[in-house]
Amino acid sequence: MTQPAVANQALPSSLSARLHELAHRHPLLVALDFDGVLAPLGDDPAAVTPLPEAVAAIRRLVAHGIPVAVVSGRDLASLSSVAQIGPGVLMVGSHGDEWAEPARLEVSHADLDAHVDVVHAAAVAAHRVAAAHPGAWVELKRTSVAVHVRRMPSHLRAAALAAARQALHGIPGVRLLPGTDVLEATTTPADKGVAVQTLRAMSGAAAVIFLGDDVTDEAAFARLGPGDLGIKVGDGDTRAAERIPDCIAVTHVLRTLADHLDRDVGISSERTPERTRL
Ligand SMILES: [Mg+2]
Repeated sequence: MTQPAVANQALPSSLSARLHELAHRHPLLVALDFDGVLAPLGDDPAAVTPLPEAVAAIRRLVAHGIPVAVVSGRDLASLSSVAQIGPGVLMVGSHGDEWAEPARLEVSHADLDAHVDVVHAAAVAAHRVAAAHPGAWVELKRTSVAVHVRRMPSHLRAAALAAARQALHGIPGVRLLPGTDVLEATTTPADKGVAVQTLRAMSGAAAVIFLGDDVTDEAAFARLGPGDLGIKVGDGDTRAAERIPDCIAVTHVLRTLADHLDRDVGISSERTPERTRL
């Protein structure tokens, strides 16, 4: 996939000031969605790659001891295969239902067998919808099923999503998570808001920065407090305090934060980066 070039681009002054302020909060947690945030959206989920400049900026944050987590709706295997960012970045898949290292912190829904019948029923319904709407496709995850319509002509997507909603909403044990060009039927209470709160507790974070582009990221924005910073990427209603246009701007946010941290270390030799483990 061709990736957009990352040119110099000024951030809004209010956002830059908040990043400067948050760089002094310790520990600071940075959590981000993947698709549409670290990586431009693509029709083939397996071919999506993060912007190299974003990866470089995250590695700088990690080197400063900042805990960084990628919180995605993808299942963990899919996320781990495309989001190869480097050591020290915690991967959280399936909206917080699947956690990578350390395993002891995994949010467990204990008996996956209990979900199998519900997921199967949802999968059957989802496949019927996909069969009736060419271009729609079904993603099967451990505890959920997602109907994607991104590959369909844009004027046909709403009808396919409406059909999916109708087919899935009455299945006992299913909770619907609408996203951009996707409707997910999940069997667990996991959402990105719970995931961010878990990350906050794990890291003992004094402040959280969360960046997301999708409807499902709103659950995370809703859990942020006045001392945190939510950044919505792209268009759409949001609870986030700040908005930036695209993945390239995400790169500038991460780089600006790393620049502030670099300056702090340069100014004060007392501020030795001290790793906060996730
Ligand atoms: Mg996204």
